[in-house]
Amino acid sequence: MARYIGPACRLCRREGVKLFLKGDRCLSGKCALDRRGSAPGQHGAARKKSKEYGIQLREKQKAKRYYGILENQFHRYFLKADNQEGVTGENLLSLLERRIDNVIYRMGMAESRKEARQLVLHGHFRLNGNKVTIPSLIVKVGDTITLRDASRSSEKIKSLIETLDSRISPKWLEIDRENVTAKVVALPQREDVDMPFEEQLIVELYSK
Ligand code: SF4
Repeated sequence: MARYIGPACRLCRREGVKLFLKGDRCLSGKCALDRRGSAPGQHGAARKKSKEYGIQLREKQKAKRYYGILENQFHRYFLKADNQEGVTGENLLSLLERRIDNVIYRMGMAESRKEARQLVLHGHFRLNGNKVTIPSLIVKVGDTITLRDASRSSEKIKSLIETLDSRISPKWLEIDRENVTAKVVALPQREDVDMPFEEQLIVELYSK
């Protein structure tokens, strides 16, 4: 399974926005984008403004990097969204938000989507009672996601469970903090999701 293994902060600097790829560090004074906002590379600071195609391309890159997805899989999500009824951009967002690694991140069980992905790969969660190890799995309304065994979890997970109360979860997830469980009660809507990119520009790019 291919994935990006380079420096995460470089991606934020390239896009010029915080993509929140490193958990608490992103909110601290150590954020590389806050300290050094220019694009990476020798001529990063001198980069010219993009024209229409460049702007659309950057929006797609932001979305891919935000969710930690590579091109082929992202394109498949677009095709699936385009085949569904409704607004393609909103369908695309709904699919991306409902990836199980993102759900675990939104639950507050991981500090970043990358960490959530690792937790899924290591089999720490159940979907409707069954062990799940595929981070790209898309959940649907009515699904329940549970931590497999809180008592056997690492110290890091235990400390995250303790802070669950203070975390803000999206409206489309119903969180049972005592049992470390999330139920999908609705499809994510555009207004529920705070994104650093414009999905409509991604649709325009793929529709050329
Ligand atoms: Fe991006 Fe977080 Fe690195 Fe800041 S600390 S540049 S938000 S990954």
